[in-house]
Amino acid sequence: MKPYLIAALFIAGCSGADTAPKDSPATDAIPKTGLTAMTANFNIDNVIGTPSVVDCTLSGGTKTECLSITLAAAPPSFKIGPWCPRNISGGPDVSGIWLEGGKVYDADGAFIQNMSTFYKDPKWQMFDPATGKINVTDSKVSCEAAARPDVDPQYQNHCVECDVSYLESGLSQTYVIPIMPSNAQTISPRVSAGGVGVAFSGVRLDASAPTDAILSAYTLAPFDDCGGHVNLNVGYHIHAATDCLNSAAKSTAHALQLGLAMDGYPIMTRLTRAGQEPADLDLCRGHETDGIGYHYHVNDPGANAIIGCHKGETGCTLTEANGTCDATQSARRGPPGGGDRGDRPPRGERPERGDRPPKPQ
Ligand SMILES: [Zn+2]
Ligand SMILES: [Zn+2]
Repeated sequence: MKPYLIAALFIAGCSGADTAPKDSPATDAIPKTGLTAMTANFNIDNVIGTPSVVDCTLSGGTKTECLSITLAAAPPSFKIGPWCPRNISGGPDVSGIWLEGGKVYDADGAFIQNMSTFYKDPKWQMFDPATGKINVTDSKVSCEAAARPDVDPQYQNHCVECDVSYLESGLSQTYVIPIMPSNAQTISPRVSAGGVGVAFSGVRLDASAPTDAILSAYTLAPFDDCGGHVNLNVGYHIHAATDCLNSAAKSTAHALQLGLAMDGYPIMTRLTRAGQEPADLDLCRGHETDGIGYHYHVNDPGANAIIGCHKGETGCTLTEANGTCDATQSARRGPPGGGDRGDRPPRGERPERGDRPPKPQ
């Protein structure tokens, strides 16, 4: 049994004056029960500092109060990797997965051996035919170079993986999520590069992985069996919701709640307690039920889209724990901290970089 954050009655001002603007609302205006409910299930092993209530401006311009919770870039309680097998003889146990056409494939040696057939393109040759050795970005330098917008040609036909050990120490993400969701005036038809939300296990739930852009550079960037991989800017993040999230889930009579979407609505397992996918899900994969209100049910892992879109105005994903959340600004500038370049990556450009310049030392 993991320790969870139980009593989370945090108030702005107690959590450090630098985390809240000076004109924070009076503490009696803060819906403490809502904040407790939002933070109680987070795996405390992965929470940095103390969650707090901050003023925030959501993507549609609504000014409200948000939960601000900072999580380590790699959850210590999560099994991370493997991704790339080292030889075409490597089986699923030393390999991750790949999502294609709504299906989940083992990105094992056999898959990599078969890629020119699978993708009907003879240019795929990611292994040495004599030895079966697979080209893998097995250093920080090579993983960085292969994730560059203009992939160094020497890393074409490489299986790309970045190890957790390459991450800057202290790298974290701060999620600023509305306590009371506000429905958006216009719903974007897809999740923006700012991400889907955050799981109670402390994992970032990301927008669809731009698999086409990855493949167009003759690279394969597998996900581990939990649907995740590492981006040097944001750390470990997942593109598919699997059973890996269930251990930190909150039990409800309807389904397991896996975490919070960036608009503040709950994210639940794909299936309800009755083993059914609700029939009345909207395009965002949400619906309303008595007692819970509006919430999402995650997609099948192969879909490469954890949810379809956000019904509500979204908050912010910040790289600085005490940054100010103005989601109207980040919408104009692109994703702060960046998840994948999921939205129309320019031709030849690689995902996984974000639009943020390198972090100043
Ligand atoms: Zn439901
Ligand atoms: Zn990714």
